[in-house]
Amino acid sequence: MDAHKALIAQIEAEMRATAGWTGRPHLAPRVRAALLAVRREAFVPPALRAEAYANHPLRIGHGQTISQPFIVALMTELLDPMPDHVVLEIGTGSGYQAAVLAALVHHVYSVEVIPALSAQAQTALTREGVGNVTLRIGDGAVGWPEHAPYDGIIVTAAGPTVPPALIAQLRPGGRMVLPLGEPFGDQMLTLIVKNADGNFTRRDILPVAFVPLTGG
Ligand code: SAH
Repeated sequence: MDAHKALIAQIEAEMRATAGWTGRPHLAPRVRAALLAVRREAFVPPALRAEAYANHPLRIGHGQTISQPFIVALMTELLDPMPDHVVLEIGTGSGYQAAVLAALVHHVYSVEVIPALSAQAQTALTREGVGNVTLRIGDGAVGWPEHAPYDGIIVTAAGPTVPPALIAQLRPGGRMVLPLGEPFGDQMLTLIVKNADGNFTRRDILPVAFVPLTGG
């Protein structure tokens, strides 16, 4: 088995092992196919290519990381991405999560606060032929109102509370997946579903460790 397929098998095993928390024992076939289609090696620094299909986070420079593949898979799965969806990502980083989502939905808008990372991500996305991702540099805590409402929002950096602007930009019935907690402290991957009346329900999924959401 090649390294990429072996990684998917590890992710599936970790999905089964964590199903008691997440409620998701399996990846949807579409999500699995997207994880197989996107070359993670294209989004990691050249010096770390040999580790591209290891199931752990990798440093991408500027103190940031490309998330662990299992966590990317789980967050993508929890979003229930559909082909007609428009999704907002906060924390473009390497562009890998955006590329996975782009294989599953109509369009991805992604905001990154560090200009050099956004530029690198754009280069990788273009090189990989991903055309349905639009990047922006700025503070993602305020979302990206021009393209709202979003069917799904994914936040890949941890803050203490749910940014109100992101709730406002979520479509009723839409789903948001984000890590909540203190910088480098206890964090909980959280699923938020916005109701038709504009309120939302919140469910704890799994303890996680993300880089901090800055600014605000
Ligand atoms: N989704 C990324 C993970 C990157 S790590 C990937 O697939 O590689 C989280 C990213 O969030 C970092 O690049 C960090 O710079 C960015 N970030 C942190 N705070 C932010 C903010 N307020 N707005 C936008 N991006 C932010």
